[in-house]
Amino acid sequence: MTSPCAVGVDVGGTFVKLGLVQGHRILTQRALPTASIGSTPRKLQEGLVKAVGSLVRESRRRITGVGVGIPGWVQYPEGVVRSCANLPGWKDVPLRALLSRRLHLPVSVDNDVNVMTLAEWTAGAGRGARNLVCVTLGTGVGGGLILDGRLYRGWNGFAGEIGHIPVAEAGPRCSCGGIACLERYVGNREILQRVRDQLKQGVASVIPELVGGDLRRLTPEVIDRACELGDPLGRQTWRWVGTQIGLVLIGVVNLLNPERIVVGGGISKAGRWLFEPMRKTVRRRAVRGASRFEETRWSTWMR
Ligand SMILES: [Zn+2]
Repeated sequence: MTSPCAVGVDVGGTFVKLGLVQGHRILTQRALPTASIGSTPRKLQEGLVKAVGSLVRESRRRITGVGVGIPGWVQYPEGVVRSCANLPGWKDVPLRALLSRRLHLPVSVDNDVNVMTLAEWTAGAGRGARNLVCVTLGTGVGGGLILDGRLYRGWNGFAGEIGHIPVAEAGPRCSCGGIACLERYVGNREILQRVRDQLKQGVASVIPELVGGDLRRLTPEVIDRACELGDPLGRQTWRWVGTQIGLVLIGVVNLLNPERIVVGGGISKAGRWLFEPMRKTVRRRAVRGASRFEETRWSTWMR
């Protein structure tokens, strides 16, 4: 008799990822393009039932439950998806109940960054901390909080929206309804646009050469490569992005006094080019004693 397993599901705008897990180990994982399933509530539910079902059947193991992370506002523990910025049509969908009934398994549904924060806290870069802030950098900028040894959800489940803290009085409008949110400056798309704009203004850089003259092929990884080659525009870009994130983190550190901040997501692969200005900004400008900076560990979580 093998020990029981669980299924973890990460629903993203681009991919739905599934993993068969035992303890903290992922035994099998697969990724399906969200577009191939369809993102309306009905299609996605149907797709999840099929994908989880086949993973469970193929594993031939005893499954204790299914956990689903959703990139939106989820009422927990009911598992009702209130809204989802990247999945149109999702409004008040009782996903937990629907999946549980179809899969005949206990199901838990929560916000994806909350789930990531819990994972980092129990098995990753945040282990052992009683006060932890997790930040994810990607198309959107997300945040999760562990305060006094438990996940902090806030009054009605909105806590941790670091990406929607404004960095200026005026600026671009955000999908959340706000203005000049951090995400509108350091989200994936915005960073790439910033680099394209600077190139258009004639800033010298190795980047056009790296993408064969086609700036539609620009990705964060290309900026990383440019940094490694000593490119001033690449380095200046991450320095600026790191500083903007650092400025918001000063507020977070002064408010919450976390013992650790874990930064992850695709953009965090930029490594020291991004992390050094972020750290420096917080160290220089946060209230002394608000956090033990020397012991604050910053990590990137593995993708
Ligand atoms: Zn916003």
